[in-house]
Amino acid sequence: MAQEVFWRRKTLREMNREEWESLCDGCALCCLHKVEDEDTQEVFYTTVVCHLLDMNSCQCTEYERRCQLVPSCIRLEPEDVETFDWLPITCSYRLIHEGKDLPEWHPLLTGERSSVQQANASVLSVYEVRDNEISEDQLIDFILDED
Ligand code: SF4
Ligand code: SF4
Repeated sequence: MAQEVFWRRKTLREMNREEWESLCDGCALCCLHKVEDEDTQEVFYTTVVCHLLDMNSCQCTEYERRCQLVPSCIRLEPEDVETFDWLPITCSYRLIHEGKDLPEWHPLLTGERSSVQQANASVLSVYEVRDNEISEDQLIDFILDED
């Protein structure tokens, strides 16, 4: 019998680096700015995207230096899985951490990186402005309506 695919038989912490990296679907939804309710600590996504994102390829233009250039940019690491509830609900790392399967449009299932954009599951389908086009005070005006 064929062995089950790695994301169904391993926890995030058990994955090797290659498996871990391949789990990212490239949606870039995590590159949207978030605002936190100071009273409830609830996190809300906005439709404001980081200025370092290439809006054609949906990839970071400064991937190696991203955390230096954008202090709010978070590098996902296996030891932090317990905090992954801030990630978008379709994020592969969050789905696997919550014991769910990958969506059918995930590149690991389709073999095509473009399947994410084709399924309207990437940041390109939701973003309205880049962060260098507005002031920080305006972030609140761009809360993402997730309904
Ligand atoms: S939201 Fe998750 S799957 Fe999408 S780009 Fe960010 S880390 Fe990768
Ligand atoms: S620095 Fe790159 S990876 Fe980080 S939020 Fe901006 S575009 Fe996304």
